[in-house]
This record gives sequence, C-alpha cells and structure tokens, in this order.
Amino acid sequence: MSQQQALKRRPCNLVMVGHVPLGGGAPVVVQSMTNTDTADAAATVQQVFELWQAGSELVRITVNSPEAAAQVSTIRRELDAMGCNVPLVGDFHYNGHKLLAQYPDCAEALAKYRINPGNVGKGSKRDEQFAAMIEAAIHYQKPVRIGVNWGSLDQEKMARMMDENAQRTEPLSADALMREALIQSALESAAQAEALGLPSNFITISCKVSDVQDLVTVYRDLASRCTYPLHLGLTEAGMGSKGIVASTAALALLLQEGIGDTIRVSLTPEPGEARTKEVVVAQEILQVMGIRSFTPLVTACPGCGRTTSTFFQELAQKIQRYLREQMPIWRSQYPGVETMSVAVMGCVVNGPGESKLANIGISLPGTGEVPVAPVFVDGQKTVTLKGDAIAEEFQTIVEDYVQKNYAEGGKLRQSLPLQQKTIPLKAI
Ligand code: SF4
Repeated sequence: MSQQQALKRRPCNLVMVGHVPLGGGAPVVVQSMTNTDTADAAATVQQVFELWQAGSELVRITVNSPEAAAQVSTIRRELDAMGCNVPLVGDFHYNGHKLLAQYPDCAEALAKYRINPGNVGKGSKRDEQFAAMIEAAIHYQKPVRIGVNWGSLDQEKMARMMDENAQRTEPLSADALMREALIQSALESAAQAEALGLPSNFITISCKVSDVQDLVTVYRDLASRCTYPLHLGLTEAGMGSKGIVASTAALALLLQEGIGDTIRVSLTPEPGEARTKEVVVAQEILQVMGIRSFTPLVTACPGCGRTTSTFFQELAQKIQRYLREQMPIWRSQYPGVETMSVAVMGCVVNGPGESKLANIGISLPGTGEVPVAPVFVDGQKTVTLKGDAIAEEFQTIVEDYVQKNYAEGGKLRQSLPLQQKTIPLKAI
C-alpha cells in the first residue's frame, strides 16, 4: 500500500517559522518542547539538539524569566555551531511583553513567539501588554502562535460569556460555552493582532484542551472559522500508553479530516524516559496514517502460542532501534529510505505473506517448525538464515538493500549476494 496517501488538507495561510513552512499545503510539521530550565543554556542546548536529531522540526523553549531570556541568543548560537538549525519558539506567559522589550537578542534569536491570551495581563493592562508583544513580533518580523489553553482561559472573558449565556432563551451547555470561549479568545486575539499591523500570514492558532472529544469539536469548529494554520495537540495527554493513545485518537481524527498543520504530542515522560519519545510518537502517528514518512517501520506480529521463543520480539526491537538510530545519517545519504518497510514475523502462519508485502521480511520459525528463517526481498524469497547470527545477517541484508535502493547512484555494496542460499548456523 502506498505510504503517502493524499489526504485532502484544509486550505490555510502559509506561515514561515524560520526556514520551516507551516500551512499553505506544506507537510504537517512535528514539533516538541524542552523541559529544561532555559536559564541553564548547556542543558537546553543538549535537549534541543536531541529533539532535533530525533526529528523535531521546531522546538519550543520556555522564556519565563530574565535569566532565561538572557540565555536564548547563546542557545541559538551554540546550536548553530553544532550544525543544528532547528527554529526555536519562545513560550511566553505573564511577562513576555517585558522580556521581549528588555532582551532584544532573545527577541531576534527566536523564530516564533507563543502568546497565551489568558496569560498576558489582567484588566486594562491586558490589551497594552498584548499589543507590546505583537509590536515586538512586527518589529522583528516574527510570526506568533496565539495559543489558548483551557487551563488558562481568560477568566474575565469567560465570566462575561457566562453572563451573556444566562440571558439567552436557549443557553449553551457549560461544555459548549467553554469551547466557544476558547475559540473566541483565539480568534479575537488574532483579529486584534492583525488590527495592530501583524499580517495574517504571521499568525498561527491553537486551542488546546485535555479531553479528546472536546478537542475534536473545538478544532472542527475553529478550522471552519479561520484560515490561520492550526497547531494541533491534546494538552496534558498524560503518561505512558494513556498519553499516547489519547493523543493518537484525537490527532488522528482531525488529521484524517485535513485539520492540523503542526502537531505536538504532550507526553509526560516516565522517570528516566527520554524527552524524544514525544517526537517519535508524533512521527509515528503521521507515518502510520500515511501522511508523512520519517523512519523505516518494522511490522511485527504479536506472537502467540505458536512461537514460544522471544527471539523474534528481540529481533523486531533490535531492527527498529537500528533503523531509527541510522536516520540522522540516512536522511541525507539515502533519500526515500524513510518509506522502507521491514517485517519480522514469528512463524510460518502469517510470516511469508506479511514478509512478501514488506520491502524486506523475515519469517522466523515457530515451535516445532524447521529452524530456518526465510528472508524475502521485494516479495521474492532470497535467502534462508539459520543459527546464531540471524540478527546480524538480517541487519546486513537490510543495509545492503538500503545502499542498493536508496543511495544516489544506487551502488550496491557487494557484501552479500542476494540469491537464495542457506547459511549454516547453530541455533536460533
Ligand atoms: S505469525 Fe505466527 S507467531 Fe505470529 S501471531 Fe501469527 S500465528 Fe502467532
């Protein structure tokens, strides 16, 4: 099946974030956010670099204090020196108007400003401080994200809307009112930014909530009411499988309808878990939906009583890890390799069939089967592996395939003849 199905995308403005296009028909962009203290430049540089290497195309950093703002240009410089040109987005709350004014190097080094209309200021100061941030964006020619979040919705606005709602003959439900308040907060702030002189193609929008059905309803409505690119994400998705499942359910429904120009998966890392997990999950959502490809993916069966060995699970994991680790180099060296598919199957029931559908597949022997592992390349059985070194030999076959099919010039390293043969090995 084709990896790149043409899902119809919602038409919207094209906004440039540094060198990365958002919306306007550009591919859906994967972004992430650091959880380091931005004032700790070394730790932030390290984490931004890791997120970028994992495939994050934009990285947001919090700019929450003078100490943080003072480090932003250093972080930018050090990343550039490391060959990492990922645009940095500054996340501002409460004091963004002051920090952008007091730290011009920070304002210049950032590629986009995230402004939360609920955290800009209260009462008469709100408009003034919002205007100061928009004026900075105009001055430095930077786009903004008007990023509304249910957890920090403008309470004055919400109170006004509740009063108005109470006067209606058919009042909205509390949930519907909350969703409308989110959307209005984003759209009114965007209109205000335009009235201050920020062009519409310098504005992106998000309206994040933590409930899947609310998110889908809000974004469907938001998508029909504006032409700004939409930043999509379920906020506070949670930890582990719950966070992944909730984000996937919400994002997949909207992406399938062409809604969403950049995505972030807001996972809470489990203790010791890499921050890059959120990038991998975001990429995998897009890839399994056939929207974009990032890394060759391994298809593996779940295993069952027909295979009592864990060998095939270990091989599937090892190959997937190997493929992901190669991508920082392969991405430029072997264009198109990200669409490659590899199958690792546990027995003869579905093994050969699934292996033939992949670019490269291996069908390992189940319990009681002859201890050999046929390998299929582009649907043809090419070699049968046996013994202790199946994992290493299979990896060599994958490497050869990549060089033969994706290297510019298509030169095959002559290390392993891809004709049918049996390699004698001791045990699986
Ligand atoms: S391919 Fe074989 S081992 Fe894997 S789930 Fe199917 S029957 Fe079980």
